[in-house]
Amino acid sequence: MVRIPETSGYKNPKNINLEVNMEFKKNQMVELYIDDIGNEGEGIGHVDGYALFLKDAVVGDRVRAKIMKAKKKYGYARVEEVLEPSRDRVKPVCPVARPCGGCTLQHLSYEKQLEYKFRKVKNCLERIGGLENIEEKMEPVYGMDEPYHYRNKAQFPVGTDKEGNLVTGFYAGKSHQIIPCTDCAIQHPVNQKILEKVLHYMRKNHISAYDEKTGKGLVRHIVTRVGFTTGEVMVCLVLNGNRKKLKNAEQLVDSLREIEGMTSICVNVNRERTNKILGSQIEEVYGPPYIYDYIGNVKYQIGPLSFFQVNPRQTRILYEKALEYAQLEGEETVWDLYCGIGTISLFLAQKAKQVYGVEIVPEAIDDARLNARMNGFDNAQFFVGKAEEVLPGEYEKNGVYADVIVVDPPRKGCDGKLLDTMVKMAPKRIVYVSCDPATLARDVKILGEQGYQVDKVSVVDQFGHSGHVETVCLLSRKDK
Ligand code: SAH
Repeated sequence: MVRIPETSGYKNPKNINLEVNMEFKKNQMVELYIDDIGNEGEGIGHVDGYALFLKDAVVGDRVRAKIMKAKKKYGYARVEEVLEPSRDRVKPVCPVARPCGGCTLQHLSYEKQLEYKFRKVKNCLERIGGLENIEEKMEPVYGMDEPYHYRNKAQFPVGTDKEGNLVTGFYAGKSHQIIPCTDCAIQHPVNQKILEKVLHYMRKNHISAYDEKTGKGLVRHIVTRVGFTTGEVMVCLVLNGNRKKLKNAEQLVDSLREIEGMTSICVNVNRERTNKILGSQIEEVYGPPYIYDYIGNVKYQIGPLSFFQVNPRQTRILYEKALEYAQLEGEETVWDLYCGIGTISLFLAQKAKQVYGVEIVPEAIDDARLNARMNGFDNAQFFVGKAEEVLPGEYEKNGVYADVIVVDPPRKGCDGKLLDTMVKMAPKRIVYVSCDPATLARDVKILGEQGYQVDKVSVVDQFGHSGHVETVCLLSRKDK
């Protein structure tokens, strides 16, 4: 039985317009039934028309909750007790799932998480995108076979607890309090060994953790990367200082090298008093400051600062979908906008005549060019700049052409100027890869008014146990 209601995943608290007759206050206790799911995967329930948003609540739960923040028409509450659990509620695998700010959906069965994500995309496309019967064009959601230990990148803050002991783990939700945890359920299992070895080395050599309040202390974060295909492992210590501050560094190296696949140990220098995890300077400690990994047949070099998709198995599915939707036969010219390190571009270059990538971050384009060379692609060319400036500029100046345009924008979606140029260029197909179904739907509507129809949609779960949704959408010219 489908129990998630039709309105799922689509509520903006500001639009709630129910009559509220009672006044609600902070710290007030209420009992309520959870009847909907919000944009971040939180539960939504009502008391006399007053909407409450509750983290850690599942549709179908009956809960006792404490109001933490009360606005006029809606508020936020904390689950104090689950009075009657929903049938979809499961016991989280991770003991710190609730306090940790990482996973927001671990108490919802994975099957229902996928259903929620599917509905979220469907509802956005129908309501914001104005598309009818879109479900007919949607493929079944691509979930993970094993929704644990899927991440290839982790960033663990290091600090001290109240007793002054060194700890590492994750920040609690909306705070910088460290929840100690070395065996995260969604990270690669090698992380546990790494964290224990680094903490052991730090204790033995009296190496301090960085303290955000005073700006003193050395080790800020432990950043790890794992190549799922190559088995290569990287450890990067983010220091408030340089590598010379690591006393007896050889002890750390010897200990970490006992881990199979340890290829790269390096330091990232970050002396700034900011929330930014990484600084720009990298120093080698052991091996090169990068590892390699593959997505499909394409090889990528990954350093501590490189952007690389965090779930390589699902990324492969996502990119293969993008490639399938592009329907390349070998003679096409393809533009890949918001291309990052050229991951999709190189995937497309396997089948296209020529690919052009555009990305705003210059370092990402350096990686894209390097990866193109390393894989022997001479049919991929990259531009640094804003997609909404580079593409219109190239079109107006040089009359560039595209058979297919691929876009993979950040959450805010595509710029209007970019969409205008795309329409003018009249590609046969547009493949829209999206990490936010609301902006996808908005852009699809704009493209729909300019002659493009949605042919196919697939939802690929890249981030199990979080509310994030990744979608690939194929649009084609209505007159073709
Ligand atoms: N397609 C890539 C990256 C997608 S993430 C991949 O799959 O790995 C979105 C990317 O858009 C980021 O790399 C970000 O730096 C870039 N970006 C953000 N705003 C942009 C803009 N206005 N023009 C071009 N690129 C932009």
